[in-house]
Amino acid sequence: MIEDIDRDVFVRIQTDLLVVGDSIMTDRHHASNGNYEDDDPQNQIGGIIPAFPLSGWLRHGMEETVQEYGGTACHPGEANANFMKDGVYDRDLDAGYHEKGACTDDPKKDDGCVVFDLFGGFGGVPGKVMRRPIKFNPVRSSVDYTRGQAEGHYRRLNRNVVSRNREDDREPLRNAEIDAVANLDGCWHLSFREMKPEFIGLLTEGIDFLDAHKTDFMHQLGGARNFGAGIVDCELINPLYEERELKRVFDRGKGNTNAMDEKDDQWAEECRPAFVGALEERIEEGP
Ligand SMILES: [Zn+2]
Repeated sequence: MIEDIDRDVFVRIQTDLLVVGDSIMTDRHHASNGNYEDDDPQNQIGGIIPAFPLSGWLRHGMEETVQEYGGTACHPGEANANFMKDGVYDRDLDAGYHEKGACTDDPKKDDGCVVFDLFGGFGGVPGKVMRRPIKFNPVRSSVDYTRGQAEGHYRRLNRNVVSRNREDDREPLRNAEIDAVANLDGCWHLSFREMKPEFIGLLTEGIDFLDAHKTDFMHQLGGARNFGAGIVDCELINPLYEERELKRVFDRGKGNTNAMDEKDDQWAEECRPAFVGALEERIEEGP
């Protein structure tokens, strides 16, 4: 059954507001023709959301899924790393994690736990899922969903921290500029270097977990979480879909075809339970 799944899968990501610090890369220099003004609503700027915040967000959802199934998850940080807070690593180990890489004696030969298998990053092992950045564009017709792109509107926001003293009349004390993308809707492209049924099982369960916990502070994406940024509606787009079917998901004027409905039934009744079953087995076996 896993042979029916392409190595490239897509997660639909929708959020009203995403803030990823200063790390959104824009193409404003070339779109603006030298006349870019931050606050011009006519700006037609595209850019790239790097994969780092997306990857951490996904990984955290997957870790929680592994823990819900009774396993422990690989800690993302090395045990001997210099953490900013004392005792934080040991505390995490007590709360459902094992030391990064402790699940494998020789990471070149043995795959370790399912989280390590997917994300790697220890002993020069790359991990089996490649997380790509999302390229966004404000012009919907220019978005190629089959290449992991999204519609999104870039703005640079200005935040003022003002004086609380009455006689200062709200005089700004400090000004911060924040890069944000509004009304993001599109595809996040994940590529598996090697495919295993439990990988898809963990992906689909992890994405469902994140969707169900989208307003948890811990599971919002990026920064400005107290201000409602990073609340993400997410779903794994049926991996059985072909390219033209994937495009149709984003076409507001068209609904599912009969073939798509059949694939949805096949996914829900056969594939998903089989892949989640494989995940349960892998977690039961231990790292
Ligand atoms: Zn591990």
